Amino acid sequence: MNIQTIVIIGAGQAGASAILELRGNKYEGRIILIGDEPHLPYERPPLSKDMILRPEQTKIEILSQQKLEDLGVEFIKDNAVVKIVPEQYQVILKNGEHLHYDKLLLATGGAPRRLPVLDALGKNVYTLRNLEDSQALIPVLQPGKRILLVGGGVIGLELASSARFKDCHVTVLEQTPMIMGRSPAIISEFLLNQHRSRGVDIRLNVKISETQLRGEEIVITLESGEELIADAVIYGIGIVPNAQLAIDAGLNVDFAIKVNENCQTSHPDIYAAGDVATQLRADGQYSRIETWENANNQAGIFARHVMGIEQPKTNPSWFWTDQYDINFQFVGDMSAKEWHIRGDINTQQDQNVSFTLFGLDQGIIVAGIAVNQAKNVRHLKKLVSSSITFDREKLLDVSIELRKLI
Ligand code: ADP
Repeated sequence: MNIQTIVIIGAGQAGASAILELRGNKYEGRIILIGDEPHLPYERPPLSKDMILRPEQTKIEILSQQKLEDLGVEFIKDNAVVKIVPEQYQVILKNGEHLHYDKLLLATGGAPRRLPVLDALGKNVYTLRNLEDSQALIPVLQPGKRILLVGGGVIGLELASSARFKDCHVTVLEQTPMIMGRSPAIISEFLLNQHRSRGVDIRLNVKISETQLRGEEIVITLESGEELIADAVIYGIGIVPNAQLAIDAGLNVDFAIKVNENCQTSHPDIYAAGDVATQLRADGQYSRIETWENANNQAGIFARHVMGIEQPKTNPSWFWTDQYDINFQFVGDMSAKEWHIRGDINTQQDQNVSFTLFGLDQGIIVAGIAVNQAKNVRHLKKLVSSSITFDREKLLDVSIELRKLI
C-alpha cells in the first residue's frame, strides 16, 4: 500500500515521538498532527516539579515550531477530532473540516480520574495533567498554606515534595496501606520515611467521607470522623484513558484502546500508543503502561510497523520519579518478591542517600532500582535483559563498580 497521509491525533509524548520515528525511518509522505491544546508538544514529567519550582529555567517543549516545519509536519493545534469514520478513512475536526488518512494514530492520552466528593467543593480543588494545571498551582503553593494531597502515587508525592520546597504545610491521604504503589514495599517504606522526616503528614488506609467549604477553608472529614482543614486540595488518583473517539468508531476498547503487538487497534489501519492504549504483551496479557518511555516505545512500534521495518527486541520497562533531592529510577518487573540492597538504605537525611536494589525471581535478576545512582541504570537494564543469576558476593560489594561486573 502506498501511504501518502498519516494523521496523528494527540500532540503529547506519543504523538510527537511518532513524528520523529516516522521521519527517522524515512517516511516521506504527509504527516498531519492534531492537538486540542493551544501549545506545541511538551513533556509532562516536569509539570509537578521544575515547572512549579523554577518555571523560567525549565524547558518542556519536545518539538519547536521550526523543528515541526523542518520535519514537514502540518500541525493543527487548539482544535480536536470529534469523529473518526473508519469506513471512509476520515477524521472530522471540531471546526467541521474533514481530513483523509491512510494510517491513523490515536495518541490521545488520558484525563485525571475524577473524585466527585472533592469536585463538589467547587473551588480550591485541583488536579494536574496539563501545562495550565501546573501553572494554576504556582499561586496555590505559597509558604504557610495548608495543602491536602489526595493520592499517594507519583503525582501526589512529587507535589508533596514541591509543596515542601515552597514551605507549605502538607498532608497526604492515601487509601491503601502503602504509598507509591508502583514500587516494591522496601521503596514505599523508604519514601514514607523520607516524606515524614521532611514534615509531610502522610495518612495511610484513609477514606474521605465528606467535604465542605467553610468560607475559603476546606474541611475534609475522614471515615474515622477526624476533620482536616486545608487551604487547597490537589488530587492525583490515576487517569482515565481518552478513548471515547475509539469507542464511537466501534474499535475494541476495554477502558483503554486494545492494541496488538504492533500497536494496531481492531482496525488494522488505526493504531494507538501511549496512555490511551492497552497492549498485548509477550505474556499474552493486555497491559497499559503509564510511562514516558512506553509512549516513546509504542510510537516507535507504530512507525516501524507502518514502514514494514522489523521490530527490535523489547527492553525492560523503565520509569523514574524525583522527590526532594532523590532521584529514583525503576527498571524491569516491580512485582519481584525478593530485593537485595547494594549500598546503604539507612543513610540519614542530611547525608547523600545513594543505593541500588536488585529484584529477583527464583535467583534471576528481573528488576533494579537506582536511588541517586542514575549512572547504574544502563547497567541495570543490561542485567535485567540478560536474565543474569544473582551473585550476592559480587553484586553487593560496593567496592567493585557495577559496570565491571557485567
Ligand atoms: P498518579 O499518576 O495520579 O499519581 P498513581 O496510580 O501513581 O496515579 O497513584 C494514585 C494513588 O492514589 C494510588 O496510590 C491510589 O491508591 C490512590 N488513590 C486512589 N483513589 C484514592 C482516594 N479516593 N483517596 C486516596 N487515595 C486514592
